[in-house]
Amino acid sequence: MTPPRAAPCVLVTGGLGYIGSHTVVALAGHGYRVVVVDDLSNSSIDVLAPVEALCGTSVATYCGDVRDREFLATVLGRNPVACAVHFAGLKAVGDSVRMPLEYYDVNVNGTLTLARALEAAGVRRVVFSSSATVYGDPAVAPTPETHPLAPANPYGRSKRDAEELLADLCASDPRWGAISLRYFNPAGAHPSGTIGERPQGVPNNLVPYIAQVANGERPALRVFGDDYPTPDGTGVRDYVHVMDLASAHVAAVARMLSRPGNEVINLGSGRGYSVLEVIRAYEHANDVRVPYEIVPRRSGDVPRYLADATLAGQLLDWRATRGIDEMCRDAARFQRMHVQRAPRPARTPASSPNRALSPAS
Ligand code: NAD
Ligand code: UDP
Repeated sequence: MTPPRAAPCVLVTGGLGYIGSHTVVALAGHGYRVVVVDDLSNSSIDVLAPVEALCGTSVATYCGDVRDREFLATVLGRNPVACAVHFAGLKAVGDSVRMPLEYYDVNVNGTLTLARALEAAGVRRVVFSSSATVYGDPAVAPTPETHPLAPANPYGRSKRDAEELLADLCASDPRWGAISLRYFNPAGAHPSGTIGERPQGVPNNLVPYIAQVANGERPALRVFGDDYPTPDGTGVRDYVHVMDLASAHVAAVARMLSRPGNEVINLGSGRGYSVLEVIRAYEHANDVRVPYEIVPRRSGDVPRYLADATLAGQLLDWRATRGIDEMCRDAARFQRMHVQRAPRPARTPASSPNRALSPAS
């Protein structure tokens, strides 16, 4: 979908994170002016330089928290934002069980505060990062958007609540528009290898864990369970390349700018891979070995997630175009380019590039 002639300004919260950084690059590549807000709680200001290099332009970046309404008002006052893409949030299921208040605060209150700030600024368009986790353990796979929601943990419930908040807002005022995108399993990295997923500590997700094992940074992958009702007994997921996700956001922004109303759209490929299939794909794509051991199931895991992505094709003219091999190759390239680099101390907002604004300033 092509943007309107005079490309508008898009606010990207969490724009220095994994999916956000790829989306910033994709939006800039489509001619949008991008403004980033990120509190650096799960990213680094060091991501900005490669993002700007890929964009071929500077990206106005403000360091601060989406729960800080005054900070958001300042950012919105300084930039003619037409639409927000809201990535900023917490995403680890296990942490959400241990720290539910933090998850509801960042994911629900953060969305509420952003919506209030957008409303006050007259910006009534938002694209929201939701998750397949809202389905819980789906009874049907591929799973359509109409499937009942039954999230099984605080993370999933916080995403469902934020979706419902946006739906209620759209129902209350016909000027509002929201698209909640339910991602299945994002994987891969930008083909340049300069941006990708940088988990802090032990990776929770499969592909980053495999990438570290293949690189010799960890001894072996632990495969969580081989007794699921799937062809080889290991969990099946619908992996979607982060570059494809970024394109979907560009399409969602263009749609959002052309019409109000609330929509919910799955983003996946509709093709499932088991854990063992992903291991083999990674080995094959990168000519490496990935040692693994089978261990008991991880608590809270479901046997299978698979997207019915028909609606994304219909509404966004979007489909996943990159397969598992490309995800594995791109993830490996990013891993090789970032391994064993001594972690640089995070710069404080005050010492960040002059475009950065601390909430206090
Ligand atoms: P990420 O952690 O890499 O990116 C999130 C970014 O938001 C980070 O840069 C972080 O510093 C920032 N942030 C966090 N809390 C903030 C706050 N209060 N104020 C301002 N910035 C804040 O995560 P990601 O993988 O890029 O995910 C982006 C979004 O997509 C999240 O909302 C996540 O729940 C959702 N999602 C992710 C996945 C996945 O597997 N990666 C799957 C489904 C949904
Ligand atoms: N998985 C695994 N070992 C790991 C991480 C994940 O076996 O170290 C499995 C997990 O049980 C699931 C699949 O890989 O079947 C995808 O897990 P991930 O955490 O990446 O995504 P999610 O569970 O959120 O779908």
